[in-house]
Amino acid sequence: MVLEKNRSTEDIYLVGIGVSPGIAIGQVNLLDHRYPVYEFFIEADEIDAEIERFRHAVAQAATQLQRIKERVSGQVHLREHLYILDTHKLILEDEMLVGATETAIRTQRNAESALRQVLKNLRSLFDNIEDEYLRERRSDVDAVGERLLRILCGAAEQLTSRVEKESIIVAHDLSPAETMQVDRSRVLGFLTDKGGRTSHTAILARSLDIPAVVGLETITSQVEDRQTIIVDGESGIVILNPSTATINEYQDRKKHLAQLAQELEDYRNLEAVTTDGVRISLCGNLEMESEFKLAHKHGVEGIGLYRTEFLYLGRQQPPTEEEQFEAYCSALDKIGGQPITIRTLDIGGDKFVAGLNLDDEANPAMGLRAIRFSLQEENLFRVQLRAILRASGRGPVRIMFPMISGVAEIRACKRILREVITELEQEGLACNPDIPVGIMIETPSAVMIAPFLAQEVDFFSIGTNDLIQYFLAVDRGNQHVAYLYDPFHPAILRALKMTCDAAHAAGISVCICGEMAGEPLYTLVLIGLGLDGLSMNPSCVPRVKRVLRHVSKQQGEALVEKLLQLPTSKEVSATIDQQMRVLLPDLFARPLL
Ligand code: PEP
Ligand code: MG
Repeated sequence: MVLEKNRSTEDIYLVGIGVSPGIAIGQVNLLDHRYPVYEFFIEADEIDAEIERFRHAVAQAATQLQRIKERVSGQVHLREHLYILDTHKLILEDEMLVGATETAIRTQRNAESALRQVLKNLRSLFDNIEDEYLRERRSDVDAVGERLLRILCGAAEQLTSRVEKESIIVAHDLSPAETMQVDRSRVLGFLTDKGGRTSHTAILARSLDIPAVVGLETITSQVEDRQTIIVDGESGIVILNPSTATINEYQDRKKHLAQLAQELEDYRNLEAVTTDGVRISLCGNLEMESEFKLAHKHGVEGIGLYRTEFLYLGRQQPPTEEEQFEAYCSALDKIGGQPITIRTLDIGGDKFVAGLNLDDEANPAMGLRAIRFSLQEENLFRVQLRAILRASGRGPVRIMFPMISGVAEIRACKRILREVITELEQEGLACNPDIPVGIMIETPSAVMIAPFLAQEVDFFSIGTNDLIQYFLAVDRGNQHVAYLYDPFHPAILRALKMTCDAAHAAGISVCICGEMAGEPLYTLVLIGLGLDGLSMNPSCVPRVKRVLRHVSKQQGEALVEKLLQLPTSKEVSATIDQQMRVLLPDLFARPLL
């Protein structure tokens, strides 16, 4: 109790978006983005000199970027991100920024004022973009604009490389160039007011393996230099002014996480097998090329869900057959010959892509999304099928269709797939005509007719993220009904059981690729339900494998039998919890698994 009291009087908790996991305890190093920017009108005869001053700043910015690139290019973990610096150099040549600023200077504004005006216009252009990825690229333009402004105002270049030891960098925003330059031996964490999950800074922080929380909104105005601060990059929690008790608690957690990571390392090369000898395939869910390294590190047995949406994001035109073919082949290369399940475009619902024909819909989750969209935009679909099939000529590729709700849909997919195979064969292009075909089980109708669907395909993959949403009628992205989004709901258990039974009766395999697959607490239940494979965020694989190797399928089946008698999710959850504590007290009695 005393501890709680201490907490409420001393600790200040802030919650942002945890984008790079890990715990850091250190001292604030506040990067000041505030420097005086003077804006004024100039005389007509000063215009040429002002444009010259601006051009000089542009050249200087390009030199800075080149210098940063040279400085960090020796760091292997950053190599694949160097393109960001090239993008910034390209922005420095872009007429929308540079040309427009020069035009604004000609209206007798000084360079700072002209540049700020142009940046403001560009920002509002970006803000109207629906595609999240593309919208976040606004930050690249902002970063370049900021660099130019600093040069124009004579402010020093922001140097993240020269910070004190054990620093937690706190900044309004961090550009990728600033993030790349950090000295990892000195910087323990990053905190920013701005930023989102897909911002470059977030991606870089993960590559650097530095805990980071972004989107904290006002952190820069709440902290002081050298103040002690705790960062939890997993949960997004930041604690200012932590009490000694809280520091001790987090130090313990940190130690525990390090010990866990060490223990889990040992699981990398072990087989995913239960104590009664049942093999479960543990695969990774991936969407970006940069994640493949992570997949290797955690010892996945293949890619169980390759989300192809990412290839379509951040662009006005869909990717060509050649671009997709290259991406799929590169995925095959990167995963070293292990099988890859490529899911065709799952667009619509909560995933928007600029440049594709998606109307505003009153109810997008139930609208023209996923396979419905592909079947309507058949040309686009055929291009993707050609690319996937051609990749299947290069390595073990399986194809999977999202959000199937009836037999007619999968038959239509298979008909088009067959036509595309014939087309490729006639063109003499290599492909696997017997490519394994699977569907995602994500809708209640698919569960109810699973025995029919199982006759049509080679495998099922249950997308529990959507399945839970549709079964329980709970929008997966709506925080007001989040309390109802419940994987332990007895209806979900039954749905999973029905799907597994239907798959096995037809002699096909069934796996789960929703988030549920990566939660160690559910592993025993999922084995007991009869799942043959689990596909998850690669970082979850070692933890799930550890549970798997300590339990038997028989124990899982006994638990499921018990759970199916329970009417409420509360009872289901309590029973699973209790069972896991009994079976694996070491793992489940500890606060952080
Ligand atoms: C799912 O719905 O569980 C799934 C894996 O697909 P996504 O999250 O991409 O909709
Ligand atoms: Mg889904």
